[in-house]
Amino acid sequence: MPRFTAPDGRVDIKSLSFDELTEELVALGSERFRALQVWKWLWQHKVRTFEEMTNLSKVWREKLPSHFVIQELTPVGVLTSTDGTRKFLWHTAEGQQIESVLIPDEDRLTLCVSTQVGCAMACSFCLTGDLGLKRHLKPGEIINQPLQISRILPEGQRITNVVMMGMGEPLHNYDNLVAALRVYLDENALGMSHRRITVSTVGLVPAMKKLTDELPVNLAVSLNASTEEQRREVMPITKKYSMQELLETCRDLPIHHHKRITFEYVMMAGFNDSIEDAARLAKLLRGIRSKVNLIPYNENPSRDIKRPAADVAKAFQHYLVTRGVQCSIRSTRGKDISAACGQLGKADPSTVALFGPPPVATAHDSTQSPRE
Ligand code: SAH
Repeated sequence: MPRFTAPDGRVDIKSLSFDELTEELVALGSERFRALQVWKWLWQHKVRTFEEMTNLSKVWREKLPSHFVIQELTPVGVLTSTDGTRKFLWHTAEGQQIESVLIPDEDRLTLCVSTQVGCAMACSFCLTGDLGLKRHLKPGEIINQPLQISRILPEGQRITNVVMMGMGEPLHNYDNLVAALRVYLDENALGMSHRRITVSTVGLVPAMKKLTDELPVNLAVSLNASTEEQRREVMPITKKYSMQELLETCRDLPIHHHKRITFEYVMMAGFNDSIEDAARLAKLLRGIRSKVNLIPYNENPSRDIKRPAADVAKAFQHYLVTRGVQCSIRSTRGKDISAACGQLGKADPSTVALFGPPPVATAHDSTQSPRE
């Protein structure tokens, strides 16, 4: 039985693995080879309807919609930052809002993808955490974000990198994340390189081990503290997996020889931004193939947390670099549209420009998916 069906009982075809799709088709009386044809129509040609699958016989094109549904996210709007960053707002079939952020850089176009509606991790500094967890996104919803955005990019432009750093804790939604990543990586589907995909986590230790065993993608860990007490104060997950256990796990992970674990470190003024913090951090990371990404806190009205002055962040970085730790400071992107780290989940759809016609009919009806 497929895990995901629409309320009308049809199978959510975009949430199936290739093997599951093959089994489903065979059960309907199809030859096995048809699975690859359908798969390519879905992921390479990005079709919205079975009618468009023109190398299938008419009989099959008519038969498939009674069993499967091609679901899409409903585009609600897009906000464009003065720095070129764009935040896309979507509704799921149930009308829950999620967001993806597209960040242009010199030679990259990075998409920051959401994996859950809300988040259960409740990190004290993060606005997405205020929502709590509404639900896990399905594989199809995680794949639809880059897929639907790629359709509206100008000729010659494509998403080069994907970071699972949008709303949610990706490893809390492990099975759906991995199912989606397999489609990202499949050369018959989105065909992305594992070097260009990064999964970011608060540090769910067992899932981190499992992920690195299963897939070769990059791993980022939100460390955000230099002592156990400090981390417990802002990241409740530390009570379940201590920082020590987390770092020991990172030390032992079978990281590919030309990969490094990224440690994200949100810098909060007067809390974790001193040179003593930098010194502790350098010591903690000894022996781990790692690099540090400092993220100066993105201030917001609902928190009394301040971003450290630029020279404080620079001094912190300098300290680490002189101790042999690779370290960069993440530039803030999309601040004016609340698309920056930790700011997802609050946008009011009524304030944004539409990037497609208003939502039509039900999102379960593949024949009427809105066009971006
Ligand atoms: N749950 C995963 C994926 C989200 S990534 C994780 O925590 O890694 C979002 C990143 O933004 C995390 O590194 C988080 O620590 C950081 N962040 C959250 N709120 C922030 C804020 N206000 N300013 C800067 N970074 C923030």
